[in-house]
Amino acid sequence: MSKKVIPVADLRYRNTVPAIPSDLESPAGFVADRLARPLQDLRISVTDRCNFRCVYCMPSEVFDKDYAFLPHSSLLSFEEITRIAGIFVAHGVSKIRLTGGEPLLRKNIERLIEMLNSLRTPDGKELDLTLTTNGSLLTRKAQALKDAGLKRVTVSLDSLDDTTFKRMNDVDFPVAEVLNGIDVAHQVGLGPIKINMVVKGGMNDQEILPMARHFKDSPFILRFIEYMDVGTSNGWKMDEVIPSAEVVQRIHREMPLEPIEPNYTGETAQRWRYVEGKGEIGVISSVTQAFCSECTRARLSTEGKLYTCLFATGGHDLRALLRGGKSDQEIATAVAHIWRARADRYSEIRTANTVDARKQENKVEMSYIGG
Ligand code: SAM
Ligand code: SF4
Ligand code: SF4
Repeated sequence: MSKKVIPVADLRYRNTVPAIPSDLESPAGFVADRLARPLQDLRISVTDRCNFRCVYCMPSEVFDKDYAFLPHSSLLSFEEITRIAGIFVAHGVSKIRLTGGEPLLRKNIERLIEMLNSLRTPDGKELDLTLTTNGSLLTRKAQALKDAGLKRVTVSLDSLDDTTFKRMNDVDFPVAEVLNGIDVAHQVGLGPIKINMVVKGGMNDQEILPMARHFKDSPFILRFIEYMDVGTSNGWKMDEVIPSAEVVQRIHREMPLEPIEPNYTGETAQRWRYVEGKGEIGVISSVTQAFCSECTRARLSTEGKLYTCLFATGGHDLRALLRGGKSDQEIATAVAHIWRARADRYSEIRTANTVDARKQENKVEMSYIGG
C-alpha cells in the first residue's frame, strides 16, 4: 500500500453545524427517519486512538507516527458526552455502545460509564450500556467496568493462531491475553459476551472452523463479520470478502447449524444454533445482505460529530452547539431535524459503481466514527 498522509479529521471530513428550527420541540421518546426507522441506538466513539493496527481498520502504513490524531481539546468531555447522550435517550435511544478506536484507552472510562449509567429512558428504565473492545486491557479493567455499571462487552478476536492474530493486529499482541481478558470479563459478570471476528479472505478465513470449535459449548457467542469497505485506508477489495453464507456452510458441514429467530427487530447478526450440543453463532452480512432497512443507529464521533451512517462522508457538528451555549431543547430539536431527514442506506445500494474509489475518497474512518 502506498504511503499516505492524512490530515486531522476535522479538516478532512465535510461537517455542518446543524440548523436549529425556530419551532423548538421537546423530545417525545420517539423520532423516525424518512424510511420510518426509529432512533434507538447510539454508538459513541470515545477516542480515535488505538494500541492495535488491525490491517482492515488502522493499517500501520497510514496510521503511523506522523498520523495526526485528534488533540485532547477536540474530544468531547465526559460531561458533554453525557449531556448529548441524555438528549438521545429522550428521543428514544435505549442502547448505548462505547467504541472507538480502543475505548479502554480513554482515561477514566469507568467514570463515563457511571455517568451514562445514571440516565433513564422516558419510561424510567436503565439503558443497555455496552462496549466494544479489542480485549487487550480487559484483564486489568473488567472489574472496574462492571462496578461502574457496564452491562456487557463485545470483544474483537480475529484468530486463535498467534501468527495470524499478530499479522492482523500488527503490533505483536498475543491471543492468550485477549482470551484471558474474555475469561475475566465473564467471571465479573459482564455478559453475555459476544466475540467479533472480522473475516478477511486470504488472511484469517482458515480460522473460521478453529474459532467455531473453540467457542462451541462455551458461554460466548461468536459472530463472523464480513470485511467492509469502511473508510478509505484499508485497500478493501470485494474478492477479499468471504460471504456469511459461505461461513455458515463451512461450519455446517462439520457441525450442523439451524437458523434461529432474531432477539429483536433490527438485530444486525443473523443467528444460527448448533443442532448438537450447546451454543450459537451470528453472522453479520453487511456486504452481501445489507440490513439498512432496519438500521436504527446513530454514531457520535470522538469530537462530537453526529453521523447517520457508517459510510457517511459528512457529519453534523453537535459539539459546536454544546460549546456555543445552546440549550438542551435547542440541541434536541436539531437532532430530531437531522434524524427525520435521514435516508441513508449505503450497504443496500453498494454496487460495483458505488465502490468506485473516486466516489469514496471522503468516507470517514471507522476508528474515528466508531465501529
Ligand atoms: N477497538 C475496538 C475493537 O476492535 O473491538 C472497538 C472499535 S472497532 C472499530 C469496532 C469493530 O469494528 C471491531 O469488532 C472491528 O473488528 C470492526 N471492524 C473494523 N474495521 C472493520 C472492517 N473494515 N470491516 C468489518 N469490521 C471492521
Ligand atoms: Fe483498533 Fe479496533 Fe480498529 Fe483494531 S478494529 S485497529 S483494535 S479500533
Ligand atoms: Fe446503517 Fe448505513 Fe450500515 Fe445501512 S450502511 S446498515 S444505513 S450504517
